[in-house]
Amino acid sequence: MELARASGIHIGKAGGIVSDKFLRTSVENVFTCGDCAESEHFITKKPVLSALGTIASRHGMAAGENAAGGERVAAPVLGATVMRLFGLEIGSVGLTETQAKDANLDVIAMQVKYPSLPHYFEGGEEVPVRMIAEKQTGKILGAQILCREAAALRVNLISTAILAGVTVSQFADSDFCYSPPCSDIWAPEAIAAQTIMRRLKRS
Ligand SMILES: Cc1cc2nc3c(=O)[nH]c(=O)nc-3n(C[C@H](O)[C@H](O)[C@H](O)COP(=O)(O)OP(=O)(O)OC[C@H]3O[C@@H](n4cnc5c(N)ncnc54)[C@H](O)[C@@H]3O)c2cc1C
Repeated sequence: MELARASGIHIGKAGGIVSDKFLRTSVENVFTCGDCAESEHFITKKPVLSALGTIASRHGMAAGENAAGGERVAAPVLGATVMRLFGLEIGSVGLTETQAKDANLDVIAMQVKYPSLPHYFEGGEEVPVRMIAEKQTGKILGAQILCREAAALRVNLISTAILAGVTVSQFADSDFCYSPPCSDIWAPEAIAAQTIMRRLKRS
């Protein structure tokens, strides 16, 4: 950052190097990506420091391509994360309820706990999912998940849904796969979407 400041590159409100959607900085022929760069959050449109290897890699590829004359738009930033702690996987994508309210969004958040496999099949686990959706449109804005395995797959699925502007109704009715040893008829995240959908219909 010292180098960036010394060179007169514009530093933004979040404390990172500012760029346009092609990752061009305020100095000609200088591009930015990674932990030192600010990005626009896909939902709030506010500048954020993502500080994630996922975004650093995607923006690094785009910045490299653009430095060589390309016109690749920087990948959207939703903050999809997953980690394992003492055998428990913790996944998050998009906004939490607090972040959504801080961004003045009118949201509904519901938490469910649903088994990953049918009750008549051994194995599986109760998966808590908290989902956040915009009240007016029903669009999914975020989710947090706790489970022993496959949190990354659930986070990635919801991430794609958010980026595509999918509503809780569309997500709840999605053609997800089912087979007792692999997945129940309803995935926990689909149950979370269904719960919000019903609540929105009642309000
Ligand atoms: C402990 C830890 C765990 C993480 N886990 C995850 C994770 O699970 N998932 C995830 O998405 N992200 C994770 N991250 C974040 C991720 O590592 C960073 O967001 C990503 O590496 C940022 O990439 P970058 O290219 O901006 O910086 P870096 O990867 O830090 O690369 C910067 C490079 O520049 C070099 N350098 C520094 N100064 C100079 C200099 N003066 N001259 C020449 N070279 C220099 C450094 O040696 C380094 O190689 C983790 C970070 C940490 C610290």
